[in-house]
Amino acid sequence: MKFDVLTLFPEQIEENICKSITGRALSKGVISLKTVNMRDFCGNSYGKVDDTIYGGGTGLLITARSVYDSWHSLFEKDDDRPYTVYVSPKGSVLNQQKVIELSKKKELCIICGHYEGIDSRAIDAVCDEEISIGDYVLTGGELAACVIIDSVSRMIEGVLPNEDAFTNESHMDGTLEAPQYTMPSEWKGMKVPEVLLSGNDAAIDEHRRTSALVETWVKRPDMLDKLDISEPEWQKMLALRRTL
Ligand code: SAM
Repeated sequence: MKFDVLTLFPEQIEENICKSITGRALSKGVISLKTVNMRDFCGNSYGKVDDTIYGGGTGLLITARSVYDSWHSLFEKDDDRPYTVYVSPKGSVLNQQKVIELSKKKELCIICGHYEGIDSRAIDAVCDEEISIGDYVLTGGELAACVIIDSVSRMIEGVLPNEDAFTNESHMDGTLEAPQYTMPSEWKGMKVPEVLLSGNDAAIDEHRRTSALVETWVKRPDMLDKLDISEPEWQKMLALRRTL
């Protein structure tokens, strides 16, 4: 999958994505990353990409031209235009479902605002959607772009060692992952649940399902409302919760 990022700070994107799992995916060619500095498309010799806001107000806006021309530098034929997202606090909030949807795109262009953001006409002209990474305001879209690239990359074949590495994780089936433990089996008086040491795969699977439901119930009760939980499962959850 190809990622393009329009930004004023390409190094901020590269420093994050060229490391660890996404860095290895880049080296293997499973994903590619192209950063475009919008300053190179500002249309003036002094590199001024932003200007004051019509009607007044604090701060500066990135001009529509800088955004549009840098976006258009990515393709020649209209058929080749990438799916384009503006990261913005006004967008719909990113979740795992959206991440999976984006991972099916061939090419994803992410536009990062800075300062007060970008001229709204550029959003209307080039964006397929606006995505927020949460209901708060960042100084720029670069961290949000990295969050999208990282979470989307994990869903692409060849990035993680196998599908199991992400299918059993939090949010994949509407629950949170069951608590996990590693050596030693007892630490500071806290013991790993006996069943996880039993070697009985069926019992471990059943415990993990119940434990994932209880984890969701305790930490994100809002998610539980959307699940279809059978009566026997409720009974097991109640029994496990009583032991915590
Ligand atoms: N004036 C904008 C507003 O009130 O909606 C905020 C601009 S913010 C200071 C600068 C840039 O950071 C935005 O253009 C956007 O690209 C990025 N940004 C800020 N908060 C974000 C969020 N929650 N999710 C994604 N991007 C965000």
